[in-house]
Amino acid sequence: MAEESTPNTSTSVYRNGHEIECWLTDMDGVLVHENQAIPGAAELIQRWVDTSKRFLVLTNNSIYTPRDLAARLSASGLEVPEENIWTSALATAQFLKDQVQSSDSGNRAYTIGEAGLTTALHEAGFILTDTDPDFVVLGETRTYSFEAITMAVRHILAGARFIATNPDATGPSKDGPLPATGAIAAMITKATGREPYIVGKPNPMMFRSAMNQIDAHSETTAMIGDRMDTDIIAGMEAGLHTVLVLSGITQRDEVASFPFRPNQILDSVADLKSQI
Ligand SMILES: [Mg+2]
Repeated sequence: MAEESTPNTSTSVYRNGHEIECWLTDMDGVLVHENQAIPGAAELIQRWVDTSKRFLVLTNNSIYTPRDLAARLSASGLEVPEENIWTSALATAQFLKDQVQSSDSGNRAYTIGEAGLTTALHEAGFILTDTDPDFVVLGETRTYSFEAITMAVRHILAGARFIATNPDATGPSKDGPLPATGAIAAMITKATGREPYIVGKPNPMMFRSAMNQIDAHSETTAMIGDRMDTDIIAGMEAGLHTVLVLSGITQRDEVASFPFRPNQILDSVADLKSQI
């Protein structure tokens, strides 16, 4: 990897002469793995907090609110303030709020999802309704109902705009994969002939809204992720310094099969904490 060389007294990561001021990091496979903190993650977060770095922990999971996630991470041994968590549900609510403000559309939404999504939409000023919605917003849930999917299909056919929080086809559980937002979206697409607009990774929209949230700029922001096909491609397309960690999905020998490269490859975040 061609890294900018920095004075050996430096404790910062540099990019084209600019110090990295803000950090975005994926959660699963980077900070936690099956509810266990990955070694080095707790120290990295603490370092960012202690040095007042602007950072956000990103997740495509739209089930939980940031408060729920902060509590879950705490149980795994990671103390992440809830204001430092950015979910696809928050990114979706922000995107829809911008759409309403800039395009004169209504603010009525029919949602399929959990508290993470409904809370975010409420706070963004949306009316959650099953009557005459402007948007159908699909998020992650563990209790998909045929009735709710039927209603979503009918609203979309009647003209509601179809939005999904994330494209993931499956989600993890201790008993094996579960069908997730992308799989349900495919069912609705088949029934309506309409594709959703999907806000979560790998849409760089997720990163842009995160950066706006912490007033970050792409040239001085880094993204840490464990997947070449989502975190790294989206980070690259958003113009960020990209750091692939090998503690999750993508393995070192798989990197060569992609037509692009991250700026850095590290075994895990334990290797990063010595740099910042
Ligand atoms: Mg991940």
